[in-house]
Amino acid sequence: MRVSSDGVHQRRRRVAAVALLALAAAIAWAIGSLGGSGGGGPEHSGFAARLARIGGSGDGSLRQRREAADAEAVKRTVSSMPKIVSGGRGAPLVALTFDDGPSEWTPRILEILEREGAPATFFTVGGMFSAFGSTASAVASAGYPLANHTWGHLQMPTLSPSDQASELDRASEAIKSAGGATPNLYRPPFGAVDDSSVKAANKRGMLVVLWDVDTLDWERPGADAIVANAVEGARPGSIILMHDGGGDRSETLAALPRIISGLRAKGFRLVTIPRLLDESPPQGEQTPPPVGQA
Ligand code: ZN
Repeated sequence: MRVSSDGVHQRRRRVAAVALLALAAAIAWAIGSLGGSGGGGPEHSGFAARLARIGGSGDGSLRQRREAADAEAVKRTVSSMPKIVSGGRGAPLVALTFDDGPSEWTPRILEILEREGAPATFFTVGGMFSAFGSTASAVASAGYPLANHTWGHLQMPTLSPSDQASELDRASEAIKSAGGATPNLYRPPFGAVDDSSVKAANKRGMLVVLWDVDTLDWERPGADAIVANAVEGARPGSIILMHDGGGDRSETLAALPRIISGLRAKGFRLVTIPRLLDESPPQGEQTPPPVGQA
């Protein structure tokens, strides 16, 4: 290699500058695709804050317009179908979802997502907020949607309608107290639904969000298996089930960077659930997944 030539050096500097610009553009694009209905407030850090600085944060700002579009997309979907398993199958979009947090594992999951510029949606358990409320706030501030995974992670179909309502409402209150937007997405613990709990969620403006790809990370099958389940199982519109709480998540942590790069290598773009609904809404019949360990 002719490393001594100034021309080569200059060209390399130009190439490096172009690469940096491309990287910056990619990051800006990734920020733009973050979507989310995270909380407002001046103390934001992370990608959402950078987006707010780039796009402004007042009326009509990029972030605000995107949040409004996200909220509209959820509203549109919930008005036509009570629950979803995936997005539309026509666009190469996939949504990573994390259940059962906030927990001691969440900050490291968030760190990886932010480093990779990877959008995701968090289905949080209200009862965890007393111990990990500040963690949930950090997730919301970074622009990631906080969604409702009930207060106590119980089998909803076994509860009375009033207890079901309380499970939903207490969790939504916890999310709002942590700075999250009023949740408009609900994932039933274990994927267990009955008419009454689905109606209760829909009545509160929440779409029931199931999944079509289970990484089985809760079984701790090893990081390789978790990666394979996610990357090989993903199809256009897939909603991928993972966990940031509910037990030792070291395998999930180890798998996550490889899942992100593996999905991107297959041509998928990562989006939040609301973004998925906006850009590639679910179509037709949705076959529910087998009741599992959400
Ligand atoms: Zn769960």
